[in-house]
Amino acid sequence: MIKSYKYRLYPTKQQIILLDKHFGCCRLVYNLALETKINAYQSNRTYIYKYDLVKQITDLKKDCPWLYEICNQSLQQTIFNLDTAFKNFFRNKKHFGFPKFKNKKSKQSFKIMSDIKIDFENKKISIIKFRDGIKFALNRSFSGQIKQATVSKVSSGKYFISITVNNKQEPPFKAQIEEKTSIGIDLGINSLFTLSDGTKFDNPRYLNKSLKKLKVLQRKYSKFKGRKNKHKITILYEHIANQRKDNLHKISTQLIRDNQSIALEDLNISDMMKKCKPKQSKNGKYIPNGQNAKSGLNRSIHDAGWGIFVLMLEHKAEWYGKNILKIGRFEPSSKTCSGCGHINQDLKLNNREWKCPECGTTHDRDVNAAINIKNFALSKNKTVCGVHTENQKELPRLLGAMTSEAHRE
Ligand SMILES: [Zn+2]
Repeated sequence: MIKSYKYRLYPTKQQIILLDKHFGCCRLVYNLALETKINAYQSNRTYIYKYDLVKQITDLKKDCPWLYEICNQSLQQTIFNLDTAFKNFFRNKKHFGFPKFKNKKSKQSFKIMSDIKIDFENKKISIIKFRDGIKFALNRSFSGQIKQATVSKVSSGKYFISITVNNKQEPPFKAQIEEKTSIGIDLGINSLFTLSDGTKFDNPRYLNKSLKKLKVLQRKYSKFKGRKNKHKITILYEHIANQRKDNLHKISTQLIRDNQSIALEDLNISDMMKKCKPKQSKNGKYIPNGQNAKSGLNRSIHDAGWGIFVLMLEHKAEWYGKNILKIGRFEPSSKTCSGCGHINQDLKLNNREWKCPECGTTHDRDVNAAINIKNFALSKNKTVCGVHTENQKELPRLLGAMTSEAHRE
């Protein structure tokens, strides 16, 4: 099984200089390769392949001798990354834009593919060009074959290494999908998550809580500028992101431990965020303002961190042999009565509770949705597996209902 481990690095002053040179040179090679590709295409419609570009690194080194200080693998990898970016673009233009030139504000990272040694006793990681080893914070050790590593620097100036390891263990067998051991999750804004058994996880709204502080810092920065003020904003954003991640890790671990199968909606977060993109201020800064309902929703989606959460669940399910069942995002999980199947077309977004006109059951909106998500996922799974469902007659009704609701708010 492939697993990743991320550690914070504590480089010495000298190592910091060399690390920053690595980021800069990889960015340079990436941009030059991109320019070469664009020029070749524009002038005579030719496509330059990655290995031809890799060969050009040798020539480039003659003109820029300082490139010898940089690990050659990392330079090659940036060209491979560019190649992947192009492939993604040609395969799916909707989701991947044309590769962009990188600047200092882009994500700073470089990859190493071999000769990575980790010394858990002395807490040092040695990679090519850093043979003395860089100190790191050990939070958990691992055993297995190291496949590759990525060194990165975040905007607050901290350095990290992410190591991919093959632990040579077979992934565990998937648990059987059964009604009793499955749970449905409704992703929400008022409650972060609602489970089909009625449990609710509050939305901690970390960004909202720090909004006042953030506004003060941003005002200060727009008046006085300066690196110190900017750094304070970056640190606050990082703090919010970490709080959010910790909370999601706790919840996803608990859900995976307690259940064999987890059903959820397949939401396309980036599409949802695009639809309600907030207005940007003149200097392009993203200012969350509570007055604009659309940007408020966007902020909430972002704040809830849904995308990261689903990824966490998927990874953990793989490690522990659990199932993640996804249903389409247009299925009417909110509007369907989980008791009798009636679809309530009059349900509004602000109806937190509703009474089914058919059977008279009173529903909590989110719990009802979570139960439906679980039921839809289980019935879909049964048909996919070719097993006869107990409620075969219910299926056409369910499928009809799935297409009748164009949007789930
Ligand atoms: Zn009903």
